Amino acid sequence: MSTKIYDCLKTISEKIIENKDFLTDLDREIGDADHGVNMARGFQAVIEKVPEDEADIGAALKKTGMVLLSTVGGASGPLYGTAFMDAGKVLAGKTELTGADFGASLAAAIEGIKKRGHAEKGEKTMLDALIPAYDALSEKLSGGTDFSEALDTACQAANEGIEYTKTIAATKGRASYLGDRSIGHQDPGATSLTIILETIRDFLK
Ligand code: ADP
Ligand code: MG
Repeated sequence: MSTKIYDCLKTISEKIIENKDFLTDLDREIGDADHGVNMARGFQAVIEKVPEDEADIGAALKKTGMVLLSTVGGASGPLYGTAFMDAGKVLAGKTELTGADFGASLAAAIEGIKKRGHAEKGEKTMLDALIPAYDALSEKLSGGTDFSEALDTACQAANEGIEYTKTIAATKGRASYLGDRSIGHQDPGATSLTIILETIRDFLK
């Protein structure tokens, strides 16, 4: 019997593989045309290596991070690897997820990415989707909105974050080599991050 967390990871993997060409095309515009290929390879490995019967959400995410770290490559491999591992640490021992738990895991992922990538908000990276999503989720949860609705708002904020990446120049990663010529293009990493968040939202419904 597979667990809920495994099924969720499997759904994420399917969505990433479905969007492989889309993500790679985005990276072709401002990078080296490998983001979709990298992510699809990583998430394919995740569903092969994370045990289907792992009920501990934290342990499953830690394993996911380790697998991504060793298989995705590029800049995004270590960044997504760190994000999932750090999120996993926060969720160690949990077999159910509350809104507050999910918020805490996003906060840990943000800190991990910031540290590893020496990046902040506004540099045209995955953080430009993740930070607004986290902020929106936290605001809704602290106002008493339920997890599912808060997650909807978080996904909206992530999509707005993607739009925002079109308006700014990259100052981190390969896209930064283009300087202002990166303006007008959406960031591949912000896009994959949003796809992952939306998949989690849809899965939890
Ligand atoms: P590479 O750029 O090495 O080819 P990918 O194409 O897989 O790696 O991933 C590119 C994505 O990684 C970018 O779209 C951006 O979102 C993210 N990224 C790159 N550098 C950083 C960084 N220093 N901090 C945060 N995110 C970054
Ligand atoms: Mg690339």
